[in-house]
Amino acid sequence: MKHLITTADFSNEEILKLFDDAKMFLDLKSNNLLQGKIIVTLFFENSTRTRSSFEIAAKRLGAEVVNLEVQTSSTKKGETVEDTIANLDAMKPDAIIIRHSDCGLPASLVKFIKCPILNAGDGRNAHPTQALLDLYTIMDHYNYDVDGKNVAIVGDIVNSRVASSNLELLPRFGINPILVSPKIFNVVSEYKSVKNIKKVIDDIDIILSLRVQHERHNFSRTQEELEKSTKKYAKKYCITKDIIQNRDLIVLHPGPVNRNIDISDEVLLDSRSKVLEQVTNGVAIRMACLKKLILNQ
Ligand code: ASP
Repeated sequence: MKHLITTADFSNEEILKLFDDAKMFLDLKSNNLLQGKIIVTLFFENSTRTRSSFEIAAKRLGAEVVNLEVQTSSTKKGETVEDTIANLDAMKPDAIIIRHSDCGLPASLVKFIKCPILNAGDGRNAHPTQALLDLYTIMDHYNYDVDGKNVAIVGDIVNSRVASSNLELLPRFGINPILVSPKIFNVVSEYKSVKNIKKVIDDIDIILSLRVQHERHNFSRTQEELEKSTKKYAKKYCITKDIIQNRDLIVLHPGPVNRNIDISDEVLLDSRSKVLEQVTNGVAIRMACLKKLILNQ
C-alpha cells in the first residue's frame, strides 16, 4: 500500500509520470476514473485551497467525498485521532486525506489503516502535494529545463511545511535553493542563506514567497508589537516591483498571500506571478495523486 506522507515517498520517475497525468488532467474536465470510490477528508487545521482542491480533484475523477467535520466529530468527545482513523478505516473508504497540526501524525497513522493516506499538511513538517504542484509549475514554465535554476525561498522558512517539502523535492531535479529570511526564521542547512534578497536577486530564476506562520510562533506579542514587526518584515521581505524590476524570473506563493507583506499588489498582477496558475495546477496534481494511490497506476 502506497501513501503520500512526504515528497520522499515518490521517486523522480514516479513524479515525472505523475506530471504526465497532471498535464492530461489540466483542463479539469470530469471523468469517471474513480467512479464508485469514496474519499474521506479530515482537516484538523484551517484550509481554503488544499481542502477544496482535493475535493474538486476527487469529484472531477468521479469519486464521492465525505468531509468529516472535525469540530463536531468524536475527537471533541475525547476520542484519539488514531481511534477516529481506525473507525473510519473500518468503513472501508478508498483513501483518507488528513491535515493536522502535529508533525509526523499522518506517518504514525499508516499502521492503523488499509487504504492510502494523503498528507494535506502536518504542522511545520510536510505538505507534499503543495511542493509537487510548485515543482510542476516551475517545470511547466521552463519546459522541464530546470537543472541549475536557482530558487529563492523567502520568509518564515523554519515554520513552513511548504519550505520543508520544497527543500526535499526541488534539489532532486537540479534546482538550487537559496534561503532568504531574517535570522529568527532561518534553518540550518547546506544551502546558501542571506538576509537580503537584493544580494542574490541577479542569480534568481524563481522566487518562492512564504507567509509568516504566526500560528506556529510560540512568542506572544501585543497587537501593536505585531503590527510594528510586520511592517519591518514587509519592508525587507515583501516581493515588490522594486526588487524584481524587469528580471526574467517567476514568482510563486502557496497561499494564502498576505498582500503587501509577502508580495505587493503590483507583483501579484504581473504576468510573472504564478500564484493562480499554481492553484489550477494544484487540482490537476491532486487528481494525479489520487489516481496513482487509489488505482495503483
Ligand atoms: N497553505 C500553506 C500551508 O497550509 C501555506 C500557508 O498556510 O502559509 O502550509
